[in-house]
Amino acid sequence: MKIGFIGLGMMGNPMAHLLAQAGHALAVMDLNAATAARFAAEHAGATAVTELKDFGDAEVVITMLPDSNAVEAVVLGSADKPGLLSILKKGATLIDMSSAEPMRSRKLAQTLQDKGLQYLDAPVSGGVKRAVDGTLAIMVGGDAAVLAQCEPVLKTLGKNVTHVGQHGAGHAMKALNNYVSAAGLLATVEALHAGQAFGLDPEIMVAVLNSSTGKNNTTENKVKQFMLSGAYNSGFSLALMAKDLGIAMGLGKSVGFDMPLGDEVLQIWRDANEAFGKGADHTEMYRYFQTLKQ
Ligand code: NAD
Repeated sequence: MKIGFIGLGMMGNPMAHLLAQAGHALAVMDLNAATAARFAAEHAGATAVTELKDFGDAEVVITMLPDSNAVEAVVLGSADKPGLLSILKKGATLIDMSSAEPMRSRKLAQTLQDKGLQYLDAPVSGGVKRAVDGTLAIMVGGDAAVLAQCEPVLKTLGKNVTHVGQHGAGHAMKALNNYVSAAGLLATVEALHAGQAFGLDPEIMVAVLNSSTGKNNTTENKVKQFMLSGAYNSGFSLALMAKDLGIAMGLGKSVGFDMPLGDEVLQIWRDANEAFGKGADHTEMYRYFQTLKQ
């Protein structure tokens, strides 16, 4: 297939790598042109492009961008820079795999459909490790028939491809998943610090949690690997997690459902993001709680 791929960051890079390995003809683009050029140099069959108009013959374009603002920038374009909306040929499909805002995605889907283009929101879960392994969980919003067309491409990137509903449903599901994940991380970090203040050994605590009912993704895959080790390099930024929580709480408000715990969780992530800045990894929440003790 002729696939365009936009956004070669922590996730996009290994995902595009798997698509190139599967034999697709890839045109790749990133805000950082050197990143795209490097990717093309390392992958036969991949071409780096610097202008959206170079995606004109793509059958599918995948976006793996930070947020809805970035996605809309490439899809809708601006007065002097036409977006994919006026570049892609009829029948082409945009698959937005970023974690974006469901209501904005719904609107984007309609705008694309009005131009004869197809759209799926297909955000992912599993982090960089599972992006590298091609075992991401992919939650898809959109028409079942469009998903059926794109399933072979998605199956290259993930093991579980789940159709969760109409346009925007994938992005809604993703934000709610990350709320549950972020709340679990906070509870874990709080318990670890309280336990240590009591005199418990955090290495023993994590072993006990993992054989007990407190086990969660943080206790299994983050505490030893990225927190206690001091590595703080999981590849998912604190800023992006704070963004996802803002989306989840916005969703609650848009449907009139109060999420008091979620509001609290969001505030803590926003405070940590403000304290640590854009470059921080989300596992640095462990370190953030350390600073609160001082
Ligand atoms: P990242 O910041 O590492 O990568 C984003 C890439 O997009 C960067 O290379 C940036 O240069 C590029 N970019 C930004 N705006 C652009 C534009 N207008 N045109 C072209 N390129 C542009 O982010 P990431 O960690 O790869 O995350 C990407 C998306 O996936 C986010 O929505 C994130 O929330 C989500 N996500 C991340 C993880 C993770 O573990 N990192 C896991 C699941 C989902």
